[in-house]
Amino acid sequence: MAPERRGAKPRAGMQGLPAPLLVLLYLAFLAFPLVLALLDGEKSAFWREIASAAGALGFAIILSEFVLSGRFTLVSGRTGIDAIMRLHQLTARVAFVLIVLHPLLYVWPRMASDPLGAASILGAMFTSVSLRTGVIAWVLTIILIAMAIWRNHLLFTYETWRLSHGLGAAFIAAFSLHHVLTIGSHSVMPALALYWQAGFGLVLLTLLHVYILRPLLQLRAPYRVAFVGKVADRTWLLVIEPQQAKAITFEAGQFVWLNIGHSPFSLTEHPFSIASAPHPARLDFLIKESGDFTNKIGAVSPGTHVWIDGPYGHFTLQEDDSRPLVFIAGGVGIAPVLSILRELDRNRSGQKVSLVYGNRHVSQIVAVDDLRAMQASFGLKLNLVLAEPPENWDGMTGDLSEPVLRALLSPLAPAARYMVCGPPPMIDAVEAALKRLGIDRAAIFTERFRY
Ligand SMILES: Cc1cc2nc3c(=O)[nH]c(=O)nc-3n(C[C@H](O)[C@H](O)[C@H](O)COP(=O)(O)OP(=O)(O)OC[C@H]3O[C@@H](n4cnc5c(N)ncnc54)[C@H](O)[C@@H]3O)c2cc1C
Repeated sequence: MAPERRGAKPRAGMQGLPAPLLVLLYLAFLAFPLVLALLDGEKSAFWREIASAAGALGFAIILSEFVLSGRFTLVSGRTGIDAIMRLHQLTARVAFVLIVLHPLLYVWPRMASDPLGAASILGAMFTSVSLRTGVIAWVLTIILIAMAIWRNHLLFTYETWRLSHGLGAAFIAAFSLHHVLTIGSHSVMPALALYWQAGFGLVLLTLLHVYILRPLLQLRAPYRVAFVGKVADRTWLLVIEPQQAKAITFEAGQFVWLNIGHSPFSLTEHPFSIASAPHPARLDFLIKESGDFTNKIGAVSPGTHVWIDGPYGHFTLQEDDSRPLVFIAGGVGIAPVLSILRELDRNRSGQKVSLVYGNRHVSQIVAVDDLRAMQASFGLKLNLVLAEPPENWDGMTGDLSEPVLRALLSPLAPAARYMVCGPPPMIDAVEAALKRLGIDRAAIFTERFRY
């Protein structure tokens, strides 16, 4: 099911359903209305049944999307939030196709032989009062999914998009529920009507959890900004500390959603990897200026309230895994790697560890003194790479391309774990290069700074 499982294997005890069970439940949820429709004695013409099945499956997928994107530990605790978010995006595209086709399939057989007749039936469907909620849901679905796919081309901020996405999806679910219960081919079956109502109930519970219960829980564990300072070109160190109990427990390499200076009920939160090793009294973050929120991070004052949601993510070490570790970090992708390296430094397990850390300019390198200290403390093999080095640079130059990786990592350790973090284009390039160099895909673990 999960289109790509790129995080490390979860540790024993990590909550969440195992992936095979998740797949089974997911498929059962989607198949349920189709199976019930098949069992219904009342059958319409073939293309009417196909059209109805497309609509039913599309609506079932939309209902499931709420649960997939709700950051529930039960759903993503083992499979990984990145894999679940990719599934959410992939299945949304499937729903998009099904929903677009849903009305068209009713007139499909006439389209070739009598296109004008087909168009007039479609016209009547789209203007019919009894189909009005279905038409509204159809139009909204197309707008909502198109806006999500082309999100980066919109002029809104991410927060505005996110609010419109959540609200739009809730309206689609409500209008679709009305449509399916009033017009749906098989919804006279009590079990099917109950399924749709229960599915909508799940949507409401998810919204309640995400927008009310989770913020309420965050209120019980406030943090405040302890320090903000520039540590490299356009890159800031943010330190937060818990105001009451201890800081959250997390595994080195994980990330949280940070809400700085807003109410926990606002939608203003951003994902950031924790750059410090687990510590009861502080959490460190490295934040690169890259948009409307991060560009203002330097202006945040110490004492500002912070709310966090997390930890999430599987870019972590595995228990009982003594394989050599090769980290490849691009730019601020060093953040979760630093967290893991600090943890390794603390534990001194004797594991062989190398780091290839690429940046454009020397002014972008972060925590170089810490990294050099780790060379001495636990034998970190450190390779700094610069795309545009200064004249006196004695390290490697270039992008993190295949020749650079071959030169730095040879002899390549096929048995090592390769952990790659950075901007998505850099990750794609490094993954492709490692595979060409003969590294098994299963040995490569990535953290993409983007969903
Ligand atoms: C798992 C993960 C870990 C990350 N760790 C770090 C880190 O340690 N350091 C760092 O500098 N950056 C990190 N990022 C990237 C960081 O979240 C974005 O750079 C930041 O949210 C951009 O916000 P902005 O408003 O400044 O920019 P914008 O221009 O508003 O956003 C740029 C892009 O960032 C993404 N984005 C923005 N807001 C959110 C949000 N609330 N939720 C999800 N995606 C969003 C969107 O794809 C958007 O198109 C991480 C991202 C992810 C997914």
